[in-house]
Amino acid sequence: MSATETLTVEDKKTKSLTMRALVFQGKHQIGLKEVPIPTPGYGEVVMRVTLTTICGTDLHILRGEYPVKPGLILGHEPVGVIHEIGPGVTGYEIGERVLVGAITPCGQCNFCLSGNWSQCGGPIGGWKFGNTIHGAQAEYLLVPHAQANLAKIPDDLTDEQVVLLADIASTGFSAAESADLKLGDTVAVFAQGPIGLCATAGAKLKGAGLIIGVESDPVRQEFARSMGAQVVLNHEKVDVVEEIRKLTHGRGVDVAIEALGTQATFENALKILRPGGTLSSLGVYSGKLSVPLEPFAAGLGDYKIVTTLCPGGKERMRRLIELVQRGHVDLRMLLTHHFSLDQIVEAYQLFGERRDGVIKVAIKP
Ligand SMILES: [Zn+2]
Ligand SMILES: [Zn+2]
Repeated sequence: MSATETLTVEDKKTKSLTMRALVFQGKHQIGLKEVPIPTPGYGEVVMRVTLTTICGTDLHILRGEYPVKPGLILGHEPVGVIHEIGPGVTGYEIGERVLVGAITPCGQCNFCLSGNWSQCGGPIGGWKFGNTIHGAQAEYLLVPHAQANLAKIPDDLTDEQVVLLADIASTGFSAAESADLKLGDTVAVFAQGPIGLCATAGAKLKGAGLIIGVESDPVRQEFARSMGAQVVLNHEKVDVVEEIRKLTHGRGVDVAIEALGTQATFENALKILRPGGTLSSLGVYSGKLSVPLEPFAAGLGDYKIVTTLCPGGKERMRRLIELVQRGHVDLRMLLTHHFSLDQIVEAYQLFGERRDGVIKVAIKP
C-alpha cells in the first residue's frame, strides 16, 4: 500500500480540478491519489462525499478475490451534497444532502422493469460503484442514473444516521423481506458481522418471534443482542444444529438467514429449517457451493432458497430513511471507528484485521 502520492507541478496547476481518492492498484495494493474531479454527463450528478465507509466486499477486492480493474476508485456507500447537476436531471438542487444506495439501477432496462433492480442490465449489473465505475471513497463521486438514485436526506438526520442504509442495512433487512417472514416466525441468523447484525435487526422489524444469532466473537454477540437476538449461540462451543432443534422443540426454524458465505453455514442453515421453511442467503460464496441431500430431504422438503443482492434506488433509500427518521431503527452504534479520508489505508488495515472490536468504519473526506 502506498501513501499519498506527491503532486507534480502539472497537477498543481489544475489543483482545483483534482480530488483525493482511494485507488485500487492491484492485489493488496491501494493508495490515495490525486485524480480529476468528475463532470456529470446526461442524467448524471456529481456529489461531494461527506461520509462513506468500507465494506467487506472492498476487502475481497483488495485481496484479489473479486476482480476489478486496477485504477478504479473503491467504495459503494455514499452520503454527500449535490455538487453539480448534469442535463436531464430534474427536481434536485446544488447543495442538497443526498444518500445513494450501493446499487444504482437505471430504472429503465428490462431487468429493472421486471422488479430486479439489483440485476440492472444483467447479472449483478446494478452494482456499479467501485465495481464497474469509480466509487465513493473519494472527495467527489459521479452518480449514474441520478434521477433514479438520489434520495434526499431530511434536515433532522445526520450523515451517521443514514450512511449504513446504502448497503449493509438494505442488504441485511432484505433477508427477512425476501423470505416473506411472517409475524411470530422463528429465525436463525448465521454470523453477526455487519450484514448479519442488520439481518437480525431486519428480522425484528418484520415481526419475528424468536431470533437466534450464531456468532463466536464476544463483541459481535453483544451487538447481536442489541439488534434484537434473544439467543446467541457460539458455534465454537455448542452444536448449533442440536441447540436450535432444542430451542424449537424439534420443529426447526421458519427462516434461516445465511450472512457469511461459507459451505458450513449454508449447510447448517439448511439443517435447521423446518419442512417448507426458507433459507434466505446473503453471503457471497467463493469456490464451490453444494447442497447436501439429507437436510435438503432429497429435494422433497418444500424448502425455498432465496438470494438477495442489496436492493438500491431512491425509493428503497427513502423507505429506509423513513425507518430511521421515525425511530424504528438506529444503526449508529455499528460505526465503531472514525477516520478521515487521509487515514483510509490505516482504516482498511484495522477493518481487514477485525482489530479493536471493529464493525464498521466511518470515513470523512
Ligand atoms: Zn458492500
Ligand atoms: Zn436497469
